[in-house]
Amino acid sequence: MSDKAIRKIVIVGGGTAGWMAAAPLAQMFKGHDHRPCEIVVVESPEIGTVGVGEATLPPIRFYNQTLGLDGVDFVKKTQATFKLGIEFKDWGRLGHRFFHGFGGFGPPIQNRSSFMYWLRLAQSSEMHSYEEWSTATVMARQNRFVPPTGDQPSAANAYSYAFHFDAGLYAAYLREYAMQRSAQRIEGTIVDVELRPEDGFVAAVKLRDGRRIDGDLFVDCSGFRALLIGGAMKSAYEDWSSWLPCNSALAVPCAKADKLTPYTTSTARSAGWQWRIPLQHRTGNGHVYCSHFTSDTEAARVLHDNLDGEALDSPRQLRFTTGRRRECWVKNVVAVGLSSGFLEPLESTSIQLIMDAVGRLVELFPDRDFRPGLAAEFNRRMAKQYESIRDFIILHYKLTERSDSEFWRHCAAMPIPDTLRHQIEIFHASGRVAILDSDSFAEPSWISMMVGLGLVPQTHDPFVDFVDEQTLRTHFTRLHKAIAGTVAGMPDHTAYIARHCKAEPLAMPTRAASAAAAAA
Ligand SMILES: Cc1cc2nc3c(=O)[nH]c(=O)nc-3n(C[C@H](O)[C@H](O)[C@H](O)COP(=O)(O)OP(=O)(O)OC[C@H]3O[C@@H](n4cnc5c(N)ncnc54)[C@H](O)[C@@H]3O)c2cc1C
Repeated sequence: MSDKAIRKIVIVGGGTAGWMAAAPLAQMFKGHDHRPCEIVVVESPEIGTVGVGEATLPPIRFYNQTLGLDGVDFVKKTQATFKLGIEFKDWGRLGHRFFHGFGGFGPPIQNRSSFMYWLRLAQSSEMHSYEEWSTATVMARQNRFVPPTGDQPSAANAYSYAFHFDAGLYAAYLREYAMQRSAQRIEGTIVDVELRPEDGFVAAVKLRDGRRIDGDLFVDCSGFRALLIGGAMKSAYEDWSSWLPCNSALAVPCAKADKLTPYTTSTARSAGWQWRIPLQHRTGNGHVYCSHFTSDTEAARVLHDNLDGEALDSPRQLRFTTGRRRECWVKNVVAVGLSSGFLEPLESTSIQLIMDAVGRLVELFPDRDFRPGLAAEFNRRMAKQYESIRDFIILHYKLTERSDSEFWRHCAAMPIPDTLRHQIEIFHASGRVAILDSDSFAEPSWISMMVGLGLVPQTHDPFVDFVDEQTLRTHFTRLHKAIAGTVAGMPDHTAYIARHCKAEPLAMPTRAASAAAAAA
């Protein structure tokens, strides 16, 4: 055994990020008794978690699978529902809606995307909306859900899905998993960080009650506080609020809907936007807004007036600055979760960023030499991913045609990063998508958003003209019918849950009750 091996990992923070980091690390070291590694999670009973973060992206399924979680048990224990994408209302213009579904718009033809052929036909004659070739979108519009089936490519498996879940219950679920695999939990509030005099690495954290917790590797999951990465390591924060001006949110659960929609709804408001996330026991709602363009009181009124059930709690206020940590890994500290940066939850990317950071940490796992190349590679990949997602989120605002409020006029006129300008220009000119980072949103997502927001390409890829028009029309008509027919045979989402994965009702589905259940 190398005497350089990491023997103790200290995870600072027990929110979604802390337990999403602890679970795979505990799994990784379980059973390796010849090379033991202690995993300790420190969480403060005084400080609490952000307690939101309920919509996810499809790779969460692979994270769960890697841990070996039982899919049905997971849905029941976290009061989850299924998510096929996001419905956007009033974003490009008032009264308009479109869908960002998980999956593409049909199989590629001669290595060119199906969308490009659709574009060619749509540019010369009437075509149904491209959304009708997105199986996920057609399912969502009819409130249907069943997991993809079959090995051969078909309409029955040409889509993907994620989950909506109760964030507190998910953290508790992973905590149980990690602790069964020997992770230890320490309750206490960190008041000081001890650095090694010789190299500035973190030696230990000190708790208010005097305990000292030492370790080799420290994973900073302390949320917006960024205790280690920002505090002790002084990694600078790159502020992106000139591109993403929203800086506040109010979150409130309301009574659950009878019909569970298999998608998140995002409705643009006059100074931000509102989310609606259906769970089995309640509906999560929140209003993300910019405090320079509206007051907290007015934002609360807008949220309250647009709930579709009785509010179950008072709204919770959250403040944030959009941006990212310049370096997420410094010396022996790796930031995961909100301590590494924040992008508003418009496309449910924070949990994805947690999963990817943990995956990269596992892939680049150091020994006690902490060779700088590992941190450099981790930081390079995190930076690329953050910037790519940042551009995708800015796009939602920038392409608006709304001019009905000061906020939307500001968004339409604001400067944007060069990388996004390039993306918009290339798509507008030719229907092509430039992918900055392969771990972030793929081509169909960019197409959904750009076309949904009203950006129409002027030309198309000349290669697609080589296919005979009648052959193409026959292909699209056949695919359209296959998708419509397949979806018509799928069960209703609410009925699917009732039959396969219905959760036990919680006595009081409020935030406090979820937190109490999580702490039990
Ligand atoms: C309004 C809003 C909506 C969101 N919606 C989504 C969404 O739909 N989808 C999505 O993917 N993400 C969403 N997110 C992001 C998501 O909530 C977070 O990524 C996720 O909860 C992870 O948070 P965290 O664990 O990093 O931090 P936190 O939840 O803040 O946890 C921090 C932990 O650190 C501990 N801690 C802090 N200081 C100390 C100390 N001194 N001593 C000891 N312990 C300490 C705390 O006790 C706590 O356990 C949203 C965020 C916001 C603000």
